[in-house]
Amino acid sequence: MSDFEPKVALIMRSDDVIEEFNLKRVTVNTSFGPVDRCFEGYIYDVPVMLVYGRFNGQKVPSDEINFQQTIEAIKNRGISKVIGTFICGGINPDMPQGSVYVLGDLIGISGYHINWNRNQSFHNAEMFEPFCPELTKRVCEAAKKMDFPVKTDATYVSFYGWPRIETKGELKFYNKMGWDVVGQTCDPEATLAKLNQMCYAAVAVQKGDPNNRSEYINCLENNKTAVEYVETIRSCRERTTKIVLQFLKDYTDYDCPICKKMARKNKDFREFPDKYYE
Ligand SMILES: [Zn+2]
Repeated sequence: MSDFEPKVALIMRSDDVIEEFNLKRVTVNTSFGPVDRCFEGYIYDVPVMLVYGRFNGQKVPSDEINFQQTIEAIKNRGISKVIGTFICGGINPDMPQGSVYVLGDLIGISGYHINWNRNQSFHNAEMFEPFCPELTKRVCEAAKKMDFPVKTDATYVSFYGWPRIETKGELKFYNKMGWDVVGQTCDPEATLAKLNQMCYAAVAVQKGDPNNRSEYINCLENNKTAVEYVETIRSCRERTTKIVLQFLKDYTDYDCPICKKMARKNKDFREFPDKYYE
């Protein structure tokens, strides 16, 4: 596979896709060490690399996930188009579990941190439009062909870095603001994709909503078998996978006019003007 050149990266835990399309596992080296959960091959006619989720070897709290390593692995394979798939929490009590979204915006609500490699020049990511408009448009076109409803232009709240899910009060607040879903992983990834001039789009499926979380607690109280989630993660994931596969089926290669230009390297940075050096 050494001459294989993947065009699209999918961050997606899907055994079905790996098996159906006979993707082969590859190890991609990065400055953080090897990433061995990468699978490459053709999906329809598109050369892809599937990255099996975000955990490298071990499940850890979200602020210990090495998002930089995953994005570097994608970059090292020469890929500039990335679709992230997410299982997330619902905010709006009227949206049932299993609801599917194409993300259009995000809100960073918690304390981020990043260990920046001081050997690389730094710039802040331009996140006015956090998702690539062209890639997102194509994902939305695929979503329109689904036999289930998909909410597009959804707002994702990134509750990142703390090992718990949301309180009732937080969900009420998010709902009041008109935000759609909440999760812990989309934003570090979206920002890092942007810092690396990648086109990034995201599809999410909602597992859990405010109603069934309160039902779950009632069940525990009444010693009933807790019906935590009606749908399994697997059946939720099938929906985001279906959108991604449709996107690949319809895929034609294109050059994004925006994302790759978004480099603002501060090569000429000085702590203070040169004239003050002696
Ligand atoms: Zn783009």
